[in-house]
Amino acid sequence: MNKLERGADYRYRYFKANKGLFGFLYFCPYCGKFLWNKKKIEIDHIHAIKKVQYNRRLRKRYYRSDHGVNDLSNLTASCSRCNRQKGRKGGIWVFYGHFGKYFMPIIRKIMQLGVIFLFWFFVLPLIPEAWEFISTILGRQ
Ligand SMILES: [Zn+2]
Repeated sequence: MNKLERGADYRYRYFKANKGLFGFLYFCPYCGKFLWNKKKIEIDHIHAIKKVQYNRRLRKRYYRSDHGVNDLSNLTASCSRCNRQKGRKGGIWVFYGHFGKYFMPIIRKIMQLGVIFLFWFFVLPLIPEAWEFISTILGRQ
């Protein structure tokens, strides 16, 4: 088996090793979307295969692992939209791939709360009418 080529069984190995939340729930580490339809889930190579082939450092690194570029550490479930958008890009995508794999739903929740927080305390007070309106609703003077 060539360690720097797409493997035949990496999808199977990924699902075997990662049963998902509650045994069925996966999510995309790039956008945080929940995925439960296994047929639609795509298994993404975090470091794209083509990228590894052209990068000496990555080539060395994946040559050492048992399954090469198809090693579980380089795989993540992903939605098809993000997988297509990602292509063979690196940088922030690789970061999201490795860390978002575990934390993306939480990160997304925090970001949503942050936006609400900013809007409530910094944007609304800039609009006096809006602030007055809310004050009357809440019964404050
Ligand atoms: Zn996605």
